[in-house]
Amino acid sequence: MELLDFPVLHAHFPLNTRQCAISTQTSNMKFEEMGLSDPLLSAIESAGYENPTPIQAEAIPHLLMGRDIIGIAQTGTGKTASFTLPMIEILSTGRARARMPRSLILEPTRELAAQVAENFEVYGKNHKLSMALLIGGVSFSDQEDKLDRGVDVLIATPGRLLDHFERGKVLLADIRVLVVDEADRMLDMGFIPDVERIIKLLPQIRQTAMFSATMPSEIKRLTDAYMMNPRTVQVDAQASAAQTVTQGLLRVSGGFKEKRAALRKLIRDSGVRNAIVFCNRKRDVATLEKSLRTHGFNAAGLHGDMHQSARMETLAKFRDGEIELLVASDVAARGLDIPNMSHVFNFDVPMHAEDYIHRIGRTGRAGKEGHAYTLATRDDVKFLGGVERLLGKPIPPISASGIPSAGETSADNRPAADQPDDQEQPKSQSVKGSETAEEKSEAPRRRRRSRRKAAPDAQSQGEDVPQEASEQLDAGDSPEASESPEASKSSEVSEPQEAREPRNARAPRKSREPRKAREPREVRQPVRSDTSRDAPARAPRIRDDDHDDASGPAFGNDETPAFLLR
Ligand code: AMP
Repeated sequence: MELLDFPVLHAHFPLNTRQCAISTQTSNMKFEEMGLSDPLLSAIESAGYENPTPIQAEAIPHLLMGRDIIGIAQTGTGKTASFTLPMIEILSTGRARARMPRSLILEPTRELAAQVAENFEVYGKNHKLSMALLIGGVSFSDQEDKLDRGVDVLIATPGRLLDHFERGKVLLADIRVLVVDEADRMLDMGFIPDVERIIKLLPQIRQTAMFSATMPSEIKRLTDAYMMNPRTVQVDAQASAAQTVTQGLLRVSGGFKEKRAALRKLIRDSGVRNAIVFCNRKRDVATLEKSLRTHGFNAAGLHGDMHQSARMETLAKFRDGEIELLVASDVAARGLDIPNMSHVFNFDVPMHAEDYIHRIGRTGRAGKEGHAYTLATRDDVKFLGGVERLLGKPIPPISASGIPSAGETSADNRPAADQPDDQEQPKSQSVKGSETAEEKSEAPRRRRRSRRKAAPDAQSQGEDVPQEASEQLDAGDSPEASESPEASKSSEVSEPQEAREPRNARAPRKSREPRKAREPREVRQPVRSDTSRDAPARAPRIRDDDHDDASGPAFGNDETPAFLLR
């Protein structure tokens, strides 16, 4: 098929101004003009949406017509509704048979899968569609019961879906609609082989929608191989920050300890209502969270080592305002639809410049005022250049009273490794001094306490404590422990490889693999996608472990979100 037959549709609006984009830059099309039925229109109205976002305006009509779609869009653009609304419409006639779901949505993380399930609840409230969520950390038997009753919409992470498939609990031969969401993130997390394996288990006659923020060659290969004449809908990624976000850069002399003191000062001085504090390393998430709590802040952490139930509980509390400060890693927080926040703090300058835009886009939404403050020591400077290049301007320097700035000489702008020894910045006495004696003396106690608390806990539940987690308990719980260059180096090196389910849990898969799955699939007529944005290969991200952990504990009844119980 000629490329010209399928032009890229451009829907221009800045991806990072999430709510702004949604509230102010909607398309001219109305929901009523899209061919959606009355029950769906009424659900959309109840959700409070007045107009479709650009991705919705472009994708929904094509999906309703049965076309394959490549959506180049980030979270925050309204992309979830762009595929869930037409899916509900398409599935509104017909019934699911036992163990044979009629549609499948693949998500890279449990949280995103759960979030999509919540969206289905909202948009599908006037339909009687059944839905199952197959994610790690939820008991197999509950999921199997649901599958046995027949589900219209199956939302899954790839690993858990394959586990069910290999147990013979789910058959994929009835899937009419497939959505692969956040495909580039699947790639980052090493899930593409699983995704490809799943696609090969599906009927060839189906509708496929693939969403990705970028289109690396590996994803393009997938779209070429497994999609039929896809229509590409692109929401331009524009590297600008929301006008409503006040940005500031606080340079801090010293290391982790000084940064923590500076952060506390900033939080106290800036009238924070609720905020996310982003860390580059999940080891630091745990340490910082504890430190903040020690100093009386209402803080909780969100990182990949936490059990699923704890992650969901923390998020729910943050959403409800019970927790004011959420200390999080990028991977744990990415894509989550967290309500408007007064502040975002970058405890570290993000290693990937685009993460800066994602992070600060969490505040200043819907035209409201937001604040995004970034702390930078000399270790962070090497990442600052990339961020400022992406922004096209420097982040305005700020100072927190009482916190000596590392200055802004050109020498300071060089990475620590480049700094000649004789230009070593003197460590700030006042900031060092603000690490209270209480915190110092508390640290060993806390370390012992958290060891006592965490270790028996894990053992009593008969779980495999991931090596990374146990390392963290040994080395990272005390703020002081991660002060040393070695500690911070080792945390960088030991930042987890995407810890998939323990291999032994997956071992049987190969031997039980149904013969059919191995047979080479009669490849659909490969069609060149009309994607024009073939992004350059990205540096591999350090993986957090939003992995599908089959060995994780099941949700307790009390903790199970309502939508999982339906
Ligand atoms: P998503 O990109 O799917 O994660 O959506 C981001 C946020 O936009 C979610 O909070 C949605 O509820 C919201 N949203 C989606 N579509 C619309 C719309 N047409 N108008 C207003 N808000 C929307």
